[in-house]
Amino acid sequence: MIDEWIRQVPAEHCDCGQTHRAALPEWLTGRQITARFLERLSQFDTSHIWLMADPDTYAAAGRHLEQAIRDRHMPISCFIFQGRRPEASEHTVAAARLGVPDDMSLLLAVGSGTINDIAKVIAAETNVPFFVYATAPSMDGYTSATSSLLIDGRKISLATKAADLVAADTDVLAAAPMEAIQSGVGDVVAKAVSLAEWQMASVITGEHYCPHIAGLVEHALETVLASAPRLLDREPDAVEALFAGLLVSGLAMNLAGHSRPASGMEHYISHLWDMRAAALGTSADTHGRQCGVGTLLALDLIERTCRLQPTAERADAHLDRFVLAAWHDELKTLLGPAALPLIEAETSEQKYDPDKVRNRAGRIIRNWPKITDILQSVITRREAIAAALSAVHAPLTVGELTVSEPETEKVLLATRDIRDKYITTRLLFDTGETDSIHAG
Ligand SMILES: [Zn+2]
Ligand SMILES: [Zn+2]
Repeated sequence: MIDEWIRQVPAEHCDCGQTHRAALPEWLTGRQITARFLERLSQFDTSHIWLMADPDTYAAAGRHLEQAIRDRHMPISCFIFQGRRPEASEHTVAAARLGVPDDMSLLLAVGSGTINDIAKVIAAETNVPFFVYATAPSMDGYTSATSSLLIDGRKISLATKAADLVAADTDVLAAAPMEAIQSGVGDVVAKAVSLAEWQMASVITGEHYCPHIAGLVEHALETVLASAPRLLDREPDAVEALFAGLLVSGLAMNLAGHSRPASGMEHYISHLWDMRAAALGTSADTHGRQCGVGTLLALDLIERTCRLQPTAERADAHLDRFVLAAWHDELKTLLGPAALPLIEAETSEQKYDPDKVRNRAGRIIRNWPKITDILQSVITRREAIAAALSAVHAPLTVGELTVSEPETEKVLLATRDIRDKYITTRLLFDTGETDSIHAG
């Protein structure tokens, strides 16, 4: 299934005008993959395999793999984080770094999000072959070359190293906690918003857009929406479909060379909840569960956006009233010191530059029917998305997440400052329609 989808993106002469020749990690999925996994492993330097896991992922797959590797007479040592659910931070990376054997020939990460984020840092530093053995269908970052780390209380994205091979045994994935499955569904339904905003941005800012890569993620989304009702019972083919959806979303980002195909405003909502949790010293919910709720919030906002009829007068009047310094103060109140990188980014991005705002507003007004067509197509999926989340008992509202003091309206407003990516809240700013955020 995955190979067939990937082949639909032409490596050369794509009609989007680009080539998509990114070297992709290998993947090995399905049931009873251990023999094939060991076979592939044995083709690398196995003089000292170093396995990294946490107590849960070691129990889920690590122990079995360690034994299978020993049975093949390949030298292996294990590093298992103390304490359950470690966080990817400067502390856990430092702890792992101290454990790295001098003669490590291959790094084998057994786990999901956190273990991978840490392992990718070690892989980048040591530059040895790097294998990932996934234990949960919880997020789409298995093939990515970036790590999300908490450093000094701030979530940062660090360029690291992508795995050479990602393996996932369906039976291991199916035994993951239901919360991990909910997260995976949330991370995939998010793509409905990501894709619509990517296409919308191409109309407004002229950003490059590839229909084939978008189509790839579209397949992932459709497949997961269709299989969600069978995930609560952990039916193997449904779990396999969810993992395929996540893997393909990740590969789409590898092919595009950026996160556009798989992350939009709904992801920024989740990032902001993470940042607020770090600033307030509270704990955030999982990435995917937050993305699921973020998707529904984004869809509500997109629906209100479609009902607007933007005019140059309203856009101008709003721009005249807007005071950047006051807005930056609001960001500081919302996020504490974590607001500073967002504020600094404006120096280079200049997204609030009045001439640029007016320019984009003009383009939006001229292309309004086209833009609303794009956005309407995603609104029609709201029911299917909510049904998929409900099917796995994932949260649908902010109140069901563990985020405290969610400040939903301010979080929605602040999404436009997370990165220089054109999303719905930036369209609302450019057209002077930010009040739509308060309407819901
Ligand atoms: Zn995600
Ligand atoms: Zn293309």
